[in-house]
This record gives sequence, C-alpha cells and structure tokens, in this order.
Amino acid sequence: MKRRLQGIGMTSRRTRERMVSRLRQQGVLNTQVLAVMADIPRHIFVDEALESRAYEDTALPIGHNQTISQPYIVARMTELLLEKSSLGRVLEIGTGCGYQTAILARLADQVYSVERIAPLMKKARDLLWELDIKTVGFKHGDGNCGWPEHAPYDAILAAAAPAEIPEALLQQLAVGGVMVIPVGSEGKQALHRVVRSEDGFIDEVIECVTFVPFLSGVSH
Ligand code: SAH
Repeated sequence: MKRRLQGIGMTSRRTRERMVSRLRQQGVLNTQVLAVMADIPRHIFVDEALESRAYEDTALPIGHNQTISQPYIVARMTELLLEKSSLGRVLEIGTGCGYQTAILARLADQVYSVERIAPLMKKARDLLWELDIKTVGFKHGDGNCGWPEHAPYDAILAAAAPAEIPEALLQQLAVGGVMVIPVGSEGKQALHRVVRSEDGFIDEVIECVTFVPFLSGVSH
C-alpha cells in the first residue's frame, strides 16, 4: 500500500500537480482546495487498472454502477462551500470511493459521510484509514434522511442528484450553513448552493452538471 500511495509516472505527485494547474485554468482559485488536491493521491481510490487515468479530468467507474466525480467537480463543490462557511461539521451524502470525503476531511473539523451501497462505504472507510484520516464518521444508510444525530451541519455536500432537495437535509443545515447539491432529472441537472439564514433559505443556481441519481433505500 505504501508504494501505491507514493505513486510513480502517471500516478506521481508531479502528475497530480499538473491536474491542479488544469483546475486553476478551469477557474478554481481557492488555494486551500488546490493544496489539498495536490496532496491527496486520487489514484488509490480507483481500480488498479484505471490508476493511470486517475488524474484526467473525467469521472471513472468505481463499481456498483457508480463513478468517482471528476476532479473539477470535486474542487468546485468544495470551493463553493468554503466561500460561505468555515467547514466545522460537514455532512456528505454519497461517499462513493471516498475521494471527496478525504478532501473535505482535510479542510473540516469533522465529516459525517452517508453511503447507501455497503461495499463502497466499507472500502472508503478502509482507504481513509490508510491515509491516516480519522475525523470521518461513516454510515451505511439512505441520505434522504441525512444523519440527524450529528446535526446541525455547517456544510452539506451531496454527490448524487435528487429531483428535489430532501427536506431532512434542509432541516439539518445550521443557520449560516451552506449546502451544495446537484438537483434535477437526468440530462437536466444543475448545481445549487443553498444558504440558510435566520429567515429561510437562499437558493443559488451555479452551473449545469451531470451526476448519478440520488436513490432511495439502501443496498447491501
Ligand atoms: N464523491 C463520490 C461520488 C460517488 S457517486 C466519489 O467521488 O466517489 C455518488 C454516490 O452517491 C454513489 O456512491 C451512490 O451510491 C450514492 N448515493 C446515491 N443516492 C444516495 C442516497 N440516497 N444515500 C446515500 N448515498 C447515495
């Protein structure tokens, strides 16, 4: 594992730095986000056969019909959260392979991550342990319910697109908190940023995106 963490050639730190330069050209400017993305090895989150493609700006399969989000989207969503809030307590819906989770964990005090597919959740948990990231709580569950035990959250990030924002997630957002979530049906999704104020929610549409659907129930 140690050798894999280090990486060589297409999985080296230099390749990762090229990914970060590309992110900068694409308009991601937050230096904290760029520094963390230069540091976290993305290739260990994908199958070994796909390792050499891990730093391309593309989504890649992670099994169970799911994908690791493309680097630009991970960076952009993280930056959108940081613009509005310091990341104290963060809720993530859709752990997937755990890459976004690792990025958030480096920037937040505590991350709570919910995944509906049990084997993905377990693999992500093991990988973050390998990376010595110990400030993440994992839950196998349906993100429609959020994770009420640890609410309210300063930030919520969803990596799957519901038709409408689940009510439980709105309720679990702290006043002054921010949520970044793709909303809409296939082919018609937009990234939203919702900020909770004393009087209600301010919903801002950011850009068009493509995410896997936000499903109901759990899978073992
Ligand atoms: N950021 C992740 C994205 C994975 S894809 C990564 O880069 O790997 C989105 C994930 O959301 C999938 O793993 C999918 O199983 C999960 N998901 C979809 N609907 C969900 C729900 N209702 N509750 C929890 N997780 C959900």
